[in-house]
Amino acid sequence: MKTIEDLGDLRGKRVLVRSDFNVPLDGTTITDDGRIRAALPTLQALTAQGARVIVVAHLGRPKGAPDAKYSLAPVAARLGELLGQPVALAEDLVGDSAKATVAALEDGQVALLENVRFDARETSKDDAERGALADELASLADAFVSDGFGVVHRKQASVYDVALRLPHAAGTLVLAEVEALRKAVEDPERPYVVVLGGAKVSDKLGVIGNLITKADKLLIGGGMMFTFLKAQGHEVGSSLLEEDQVDTVKGYLAQAQEAGVEIVLPVDTLVAPEFGSDDYQVVAVDAIPAGTMGLDIGPKSAALFREAILAAKTIAWNGPMGVFERPAYAEGTKAVAQALVDTDGFSIVGGGDSAAAVRLLGFDEAGFGHISTGGGASLELLEGKTLPGIAVLED
Ligand code: ADP
Ligand code: MG
Repeated sequence: MKTIEDLGDLRGKRVLVRSDFNVPLDGTTITDDGRIRAALPTLQALTAQGARVIVVAHLGRPKGAPDAKYSLAPVAARLGELLGQPVALAEDLVGDSAKATVAALEDGQVALLENVRFDARETSKDDAERGALADELASLADAFVSDGFGVVHRKQASVYDVALRLPHAAGTLVLAEVEALRKAVEDPERPYVVVLGGAKVSDKLGVIGNLITKADKLLIGGGMMFTFLKAQGHEVGSSLLEEDQVDTVKGYLAQAQEAGVEIVLPVDTLVAPEFGSDDYQVVAVDAIPAGTMGLDIGPKSAALFREAILAAKTIAWNGPMGVFERPAYAEGTKAVAQALVDTDGFSIVGGGDSAAAVRLLGFDEAGFGHISTGGGASLELLEGKTLPGIAVLED
């Protein structure tokens, strides 16, 4: 992939940067600015050279039309604070306000275009529609830098089509993400241990399918553990269970056995009569009382997982071990995160909720080898897929 250096002297040049600013919001308050922070190195590298930086990004799921609820205004303000210089926000994406905002940029300044998903063409399946938006975006700039790792698995106008129209490069975040994740997929130092959790098996079929032959050990927690336990013949009470995936999971268990890959399932779980209840207890996985649901892995499982993580040279983790959003159900996720910090192996955290959990639980990001900013994109890389927003930068 081409890098920013390959674009040559950028002083005075207008550089369009696709960033991922899809941050969680509570009203207009940003509750986790990790993605904005992750975008800073590229933006600073460009401003330091005297480029005129135009950032394009999306926030939330507006329905292809302007919606004040999803304005990037809070992001512009936070980005300005973090950069230590004001960030002008255009009132539209490619209209009069965007053009005027870009025209007013001086060398080393940064402007942000309004939410790219206010324009339905951004996510259109129609090449011509996306192309028309990409033409308008490209007309604002002299070069394009792709740095929104969280969207590189999408064939969208501001991710893919615009790269076909301008001299382009990968930003530092995209480079770092791809390097860390590809290494884990293609050439991991062994033992290679993968920890999978999160809500559903069905969200992660592709990853499980790909990793079953590549990893040395798969540790399974989170909501998906109950479908695995069921496949092994355990009763799981009212825990999250995907009946229609039980056969698929049985297939995975057989495949793993054949490939000599060890699948480690929890031996105990924290159960409660209902979500949010403080009437919880730890039980063995073969003794889950009817009418209770498993909300976290238990301490014996956490110790088992820790041991495997400490013995590994490469660890990829996707998906919380329990409903970490409630402190009472966060111990398993905390234990796994702590093991990732304590291991000598290279640790990779992928998945939106997993990365958020690490920060929410108060861990220092510096303790991990790599924390991915991309949920779907990191999963697709772990699946071994080719991502359109990466492939277009490699041409
Ligand atoms: P990621 O975004 O990291 O890929 P997921 O989106 O797959 O992770 O899963 C995260 C969600 O899984 C969290 O909101 C968490 O509450 C939920 N979860 C974890 N364990 C359980 C469980 N035992 N039962 C229900 N939900 C769970
Ligand atoms: Mg998620």
